Amino acid sequence: MKTDSLYRRLPDLLLPWYLQNARVLPWRADREPYHVWLSEIMLQQTRVEAVIDYYNRFLSALPDIAQLAACEEETLLKLWEGLGYYSRVRNLQKAAVEIMEKHGGVFPNTYAGILALPGVGPYTAGAIASICFELPCPAVDGNVLRVITRITEDFSPIDAPKTKKEIAKQLESVYPKGSCGDFTQALMELGACVCTPKSPKCGTCPVRDLCKAKAHQTIEQLPVKTKKMQQRVEERTVFLLQCDDKFAIAKREDKGLLAGLWQLPNVLGKLTAEQAIGMAGTFGVRPAGIIKETHKEHVFTHIRWQMTCYHLQCAVQAKNYQWATLQQLESVYALPTAFRIFL
Ligand code: SF4
Repeated sequence: MKTDSLYRRLPDLLLPWYLQNARVLPWRADREPYHVWLSEIMLQQTRVEAVIDYYNRFLSALPDIAQLAACEEETLLKLWEGLGYYSRVRNLQKAAVEIMEKHGGVFPNTYAGILALPGVGPYTAGAIASICFELPCPAVDGNVLRVITRITEDFSPIDAPKTKKEIAKQLESVYPKGSCGDFTQALMELGACVCTPKSPKCGTCPVRDLCKAKAHQTIEQLPVKTKKMQQRVEERTVFLLQCDDKFAIAKREDKGLLAGLWQLPNVLGKLTAEQAIGMAGTFGVRPAGIIKETHKEHVFTHIRWQMTCYHLQCAVQAKNYQWATLQQLESVYALPTAFRIFL
């Protein structure tokens, strides 16, 4: 079967399957753009199961775009704490402000209008446009690229913009009128639940009869990727400075990794216990001794932090730090997971 014909058959096979098999997820309860948008941003880089609680908590605190736009930064970051990639929530708020100021509080209802919002790329714009406004706009992410390159047995590298563009173009031409949102979600659902990266469930797949990769047993070879992400390893020494029942935290710089978030004091490189006490002495906290030494690793997209943490008993709450109890660290301050793992 020709590639065009394969695409043309997708809606008829996928829509009934999706309507019967779609997982019940909180953001599928309605097609409110704020809900779909928030879920799509949260789902970037994070698993569905992990997102559900965050999503519910976020919406209870900020039930509409106006409240998101007006939210204090500290509260916003706290709601996002643990999800990582904090620029996502900052852009979410920037976009909310823009919707309030430029669009009179109404979510834009065109693909171009949605794409123009801060933090919204072609994938998210396509998802919102099709799910919320029934526009024939594909949302092509890694899941969809995997599904399509397998069905069509396409060995083009999925990280090449040309491949994505071509697949988006082909999909757009077969978007079913009146079921655009379901079609987008059916493709996503197939990638997430059936055509998974490893051990796809071809036996229950609704498109198994037309899948070329299945017919030719090339599933294992697809999708093709060219670039490999280079990951830099960085050693860090982290200080868990405790004075009475409080711990020292400080704000990170406004730019770069974990910008503007709270952190435990830390320095580049791996210090010995002796060096760490010496270094802490320069912080003005008068360290009295080491309570515990811990080693942890935290992986960001491009960097892998290998951390040695010294929990130090200190005599002085130096003014250059904010001092917080465990309970305050839990409820008030947004401390990224990279540091929270030491508490
Ligand atoms: S038949 Fe298998 S490889 Fe083909 S789309 Fe379905 S799950 Fe993926």
